[in-house]
Amino acid sequence: MITSLETFILHVPVTRDRIADSTHSITHWGMPGVKIMTDSEHVGYGFTGTHAHLASDRLITDCITNCYAELLIGEEVDEPRKLWEKMAYNPPLQWVGRAGITTMALAAVDIALWDLKSKYREEPLWKTLGGKEEKKLEAYNTDGGWLNFNQDMLIEDVKRLTLQDGYKSIKMKVGKPDSNEDIHRIEAVRKALGNDVRIMTDANGRWRLPDNLEILSCLKDFDVTWIEEPLWHDDVSGHSELAKSIQTPIALGEMLYSLAHFREFISSGGVRFVQPDATRLGGITEALDVCNLAQEHQLPVTPHAGDMAQTQIHMSIAHPSIELLEFIPWITHCFEEPLKIDSGIFSYPQMPGAGTTIRNEYMEMYGKKV
Ligand code: MG
Repeated sequence: MITSLETFILHVPVTRDRIADSTHSITHWGMPGVKIMTDSEHVGYGFTGTHAHLASDRLITDCITNCYAELLIGEEVDEPRKLWEKMAYNPPLQWVGRAGITTMALAAVDIALWDLKSKYREEPLWKTLGGKEEKKLEAYNTDGGWLNFNQDMLIEDVKRLTLQDGYKSIKMKVGKPDSNEDIHRIEAVRKALGNDVRIMTDANGRWRLPDNLEILSCLKDFDVTWIEEPLWHDDVSGHSELAKSIQTPIALGEMLYSLAHFREFISSGGVRFVQPDATRLGGITEALDVCNLAQEHQLPVTPHAGDMAQTQIHMSIAHPSIELLEFIPWITHCFEEPLKIDSGIFSYPQMPGAGTTIRNEYMEMYGKKV
């Protein structure tokens, strides 16, 4: 039974001084989250992912403390979905937010509930979710392809990731003010890596139609696996129109807050690679619903890693629609059981829970006042 909740905020430095894509520039990854205490002394950990902006991180932890805690204390945790429904459909909370702060707070709580459920069962979450130890889950790395790297740094980094670390798939950011520069960078990466490495591209919602149609049409020349978030995040009809005009498949989903948002994009034909993020949707519970929806439409799921894959690896092992998961190494060292990747393939986590238990020394080192 749940007895109390305690929130935390961690700001963990990224691997360089600063990284940027076409719309964001950050020095730290934010982890506003929650510890859920129980009468059996099990503790569940959950968090969401942010740009380490303390004021908005505190809105998330305040929402957990002031709104969700009273709905959870005294409850049993054997059915996270039942508690998810109690929180997601709570009338006063639904009135003020079915997306944004309330949903990211819900995500952190839901992940902590799944962590608790698997800890009770003394098994890793992928087993609780029905996963079998027979799948090879591939990692693709995004940490070599930032837009603020000059072309030499970019080539050096993607070469290190593929030749030295053994990744078979990498992602690079696009969306430079001059699109010709994007083309030169993609061309240079393809030349440096050869034809056997998968290259994904990500515009982070930067481009517009018809202005950027020319560069979008050129991507096919470099055998790009997908173009991610080519247009503004909410533009359903724009993505649908674009999908009919270009040969490169579209990936999106990291900025969508609900199953209903995904349904709109999928039914309009505007997405080929479906990218739920359990830290922005209402947690593992709703991310699984999105995976099931994609499966019904025979679309591959490639989750976006707002958690840097730490907890979504469990969902990814368990769900048949996922064969490829994003990985960025910024926060991996903070956990009791850090993720392991060998030649681009994830090892299976073995500790009970959702992989979210944070080591105390890092709670102290990176912790901010909630
Ligand atoms: Mg992205």
